Amino acid sequence: MPLHLEKSRIPDKPRKGLVLVLTGDGKGKTTSCLGMAVRAVGYGMRVVMIQFIKGSLHYGELDGAKRLAPEFELVPMGKGFVGIMGDTLDFSTHSRAAKEALAAARERMLSGKADIVILDEVNVALHLKLIPLEDVLSLLQEKPENVHLVLSGRNAHEEVIRRAHLVTEMRCIKHPFDLGIEAEKGIDY
Ligand code: ATP
Ligand code: MG
Repeated sequence: MPLHLEKSRIPDKPRKGLVLVLTGDGKGKTTSCLGMAVRAVGYGMRVVMIQFIKGSLHYGELDGAKRLAPEFELVPMGKGFVGIMGDTLDFSTHSRAAKEALAAARERMLSGKADIVILDEVNVALHLKLIPLEDVLSLLQEKPENVHLVLSGRNAHEEVIRRAHLVTEMRCIKHPFDLGIEAEKGIDY
């Protein structure tokens, strides 16, 4: 540790596993998840990030995550955009993938081997009805006391918001997309 940086003065306390929701139409939800992973891995914490819907395209974080292995594991379990951007798959295929992703997240959450479980884009999967609300609420109910659970994606369900300890809504004030600027490597993907 560099000499000019003091250790945190915050005394160690027993962990209070939180439910954190990152939602809204502004950019920064998935990157916030990745930021928490970087931070937590710095303490040797084990982080699993299961991605819903995403899975057909390459993103920088897929390789970036490998640099934080084995503490950080990023698992894309989706089939790509649902009903847009040339999607040719039927709803049931997307739904099956999302249900498998939720089952994987649950298994990891209950395994005792993860300190933080991130469900990236799960809010979107729920909004599109790829997974039933009851299954997400059961997951929240079953969360072990010492595990942090992060649910990201636009249009978070009000029942999920009600049960969370932290909810942040990213609000889009400006986005380069509106100026006709395409996605940028390292910033958007
Ligand atoms: P990021 O992965 O960059 O943190 P995000 O997770 O908050 O973004 P998503 O809804 O998952 O946002 O969308 C991911 C992609 O869409 C990113 O390339 C992001 O820049 C882009 N995006 C996010 N918000 C907007 C917006 N309001 N208008 C256009 N594009 C957006
Ligand atoms: Mg995202």
